[in-house]
Amino acid sequence: MSQPGRDPAQGDMNGLELAAMTSPQIRAHAAADGVLVIPIGSTEQHGPHLPLGTDADVALAVSRRLAARIPTTVVAPVISYGSSGEHAGFAGTLSIGQDAIELVLLELGRSAAATYRRIVFVSAHGGNAVPAVRAVTRLRRESRDVLLWMPSWDGDAHAGRTETALQLALHPERVLRDRMEPGNTTPIKELLPQLRAGGVRAVSPNGVLGDPTGATADEGATLLTTLTDDLEAKVRAWLPPHGPLGTGPAA
Ligand SMILES: [Zn+2]
Repeated sequence: MSQPGRDPAQGDMNGLELAAMTSPQIRAHAAADGVLVIPIGSTEQHGPHLPLGTDADVALAVSRRLAARIPTTVVAPVISYGSSGEHAGFAGTLSIGQDAIELVLLELGRSAAATYRRIVFVSAHGGNAVPAVRAVTRLRRESRDVLLWMPSWDGDAHAGRTETALQLALHPERVLRDRMEPGNTTPIKELLPQLRAGGVRAVSPNGVLGDPTGATADEGATLLTTLTDDLEAKVRAWLPPHGPLGTGPAA
């Protein structure tokens, strides 16, 4: 018999899932110093070779790996919409904008705090950073103990080698290998003025910022472990007895 709340198909890479558990089970989990992890992604173009849900896939995967390592954490359903205005003009991009995602996180945090004393937001989409920091700052001001974690890596910015490697490690069947092609490989800092003015469309006709060719599942798997290590360290540093209410990093 499998444990309630665990998906056996995920092997040992995942822990408890809130949506697979009952209310009494969650009440007991929360009462035993439980922590709720809420993954946040986006639905936006990721070039000709990666699926629109790539950011949500990464957020969910890292959250599940965390929950496999820390049994007091449970993973909430992923928020698959975010602020993706910079990817307008590419079919399939579904953006709710900065104000909407901020309000979603704020209200979700307030609601979640009625069950869980501690909440972790795991956001794998850069466009959500500003509204997520705003929402978490507000929640903390309201005395709710919330941690925000966002992955950072040295690789290229969008739908390039890094995200392609991550998706190859997670769902290789969702990567169209014969469609992989370089996009704009200019460093993101140099592109920013143009990006701000005209979005990704203005700098990269295929929607890629970087070069996905040569990405491997192995490097994606290694990065997933590195990201999970970082998230786990931040969460453990924030949990008692180390971090009383509101003392952890806001981002
Ligand atoms: Zn992405």
